[in-house]
Amino acid sequence: GVKEDVKLARVRYDAQTGLVPVVCQDANTNEVLMVAYADREAIKRTLATGYAWYWSRSRRAYWRKGETSGNVQRVVEVRTDCDGDTVLYRVIPEGPACHTGEGSCFYRRVVPDADPNPGAEAEGMRTASAEGGEEGEAPADGARAEVSRGEWDAGALERLWGVIERRHQERPDGSYTTYLFAQGAERIGKKIGEEGVEVALAGLKAERDAAAAREVAAESADLLYHLFVLWRHLGIDPADVWQVLEERA
Ligand code: AMP
Ligand code: ZN
Ligand code: ZN
Ligand code: ZN
Repeated sequence: GVKEDVKLARVRYDAQTGLVPVVCQDANTNEVLMVAYADREAIKRTLATGYAWYWSRSRRAYWRKGETSGNVQRVVEVRTDCDGDTVLYRVIPEGPACHTGEGSCFYRRVVPDADPNPGAEAEGMRTASAEGGEEGEAPADGARAEVSRGEWDAGALERLWGVIERRHQERPDGSYTTYLFAQGAERIGKKIGEEGVEVALAGLKAERDAAAAREVAAESADLLYHLFVLWRHLGIDPADVWQVLEERA
């Protein structure tokens, strides 16, 4: 429990970025909902308004959680840890915390990478393909990056499609995806346009400053998500799109 009060100024913000990680927890269930970043101003706004404010590193803007989805978080208490380098928001969420529509962002379990070729020691003996790997086997050091790349690519898209498929069937209240389906092709299309422009602008920036490549990745993910939502809304199967790609290749 809480043993003492500390002033906002005592929080230890990262010297380079001015940011501190914020763990967001459901005040009723103690479930960990999400982790995001805040600076002094974001925490000040949180204390002043009673709603959770963060700093979006990808958008470089203050962000009141729920400002577009409506899934705001009422903050009952702000705490900091023993050495002041992490902050805890204890909240009453008015909807899912995760932009995928999951209640908590931590709905994915991490398991060890599959070993593609157990027993092979020489680098040249490793195959690039992940075939034959079994869940639960520990990876040989060095094989990790090469092997996990191909698995991750397809897997992430499939999981994203799976979540969108489920939202389409179940239409859970408070889900941003449910909202997009209800709004239809015009709203979804507008988002695709916006996200496309954001990818392009981030790309220009990244050409001058390599550090901005992360923004390109973040904006690209947003674009893919909205594109998938449009496909699902219109009953287009990703397989149809892959087929067009194959035909062109
Ligand atoms: P919201 O704050 O719920 O209106 O969502 C606005 C935007 O913030 C979304 O489109 C996401 O890009 C991002 N976002 C919302 N919730 C999260 C989260 N839990 N973790 C990371 N990004 C989020
Ligand atoms: Zn996150
Ligand atoms: Zn700490
Ligand atoms: Zn999330």
